Amino acid sequence: MLNIDLHCHSTVSDGALTPATVAARARENGVDVWALTDHDEISGIPEARDAAYGVGMRHVTGVEISVTWAMRTVHIVGLGFDESSQDLVQGLASTRSGRERRAHEMAAQLAKAGIPNAFEGALKHVGNPDLISRTHFARYIIELGICPDISDVFRNYLIEGKPGYVPHRWANLKDAVTWIRSAGGIAVVAHPGRYDFDDLELDVFLSEFKRFGGTAIEVVTGSHTVEEYSRFAIVANNYGLLASRGSDFHAPGESSTELGALPALPSTVVPVWRDWHM
Ligand code: AMP
Ligand code: MN
Ligand code: MN
Ligand code: MN
Repeated sequence: MLNIDLHCHSTVSDGALTPATVAARARENGVDVWALTDHDEISGIPEARDAAYGVGMRHVTGVEISVTWAMRTVHIVGLGFDESSQDLVQGLASTRSGRERRAHEMAAQLAKAGIPNAFEGALKHVGNPDLISRTHFARYIIELGICPDISDVFRNYLIEGKPGYVPHRWANLKDAVTWIRSAGGIAVVAHPGRYDFDDLELDVFLSEFKRFGGTAIEVVTGSHTVEEYSRFAIVANNYGLLASRGSDFHAPGESSTELGALPALPSTVVPVWRDWHM
């Protein structure tokens, strides 16, 4: 059976390794088919593709788009699109555009909470100045010795209600799905277990996602528990969605899951790669 990992990050967004290094690591871990899915940015794809081919791994284009839906942040992965699509390229540019201002506001709030110079500190960890994210702030706060690990930083400083959290409006769901679809790609709901939707909210969300042209959902991801693999396998089938698998790897020793290391999809679901020629 092929080892397929369709969600991970590089220095082009908030990962710690370059696209080529992530490709090499994926291959070393036995991955056969791979997508790099940086946040709101596809400029890492040429390097990712070349490196994947160089190590004998199949490559699928990928991105993870930040979306604001019903006042919450959700992530939509796009797979298998044409990366030259201007709708997608421009949509991603507009999605990225508020990040720098948001980062300055985060730094101002963190300064009031006793952590000065966080903008400059986070910037030292940034690979792509267009894509400064909460993860970069988290790495700086760990570097200062204030928190022991990334989940501790998020819990104490970077989630809603905490000092460094700045609300932000990302792309809307219809636009994000439409950019992916108009580029010939497949839209996938990323790590559904991370959103604290009740059953009704999940129903409304998935119904809208499908109406806009979304066709898949992550079932096995580094963000899910084993119970959530089963729960979202059932959700996938109930909603007629294809199922995806991805580690959401960001950095060695930081991510909960390594590239290619998760269990296979449950046998009950239809994999998103069912019709891919591999
Ligand atoms: P941003 O797009 O700047 O809001 O940052 C979102 C990123 O922060 C996600 O893609 C994750 O990589 C990371 N993140 C969010 N919540 C957590 C958490 N609780 N623990 C670790 N990383 C997190
Ligand atoms: Mn991330
Ligand atoms: Mn995500
Ligand atoms: Mn991700």
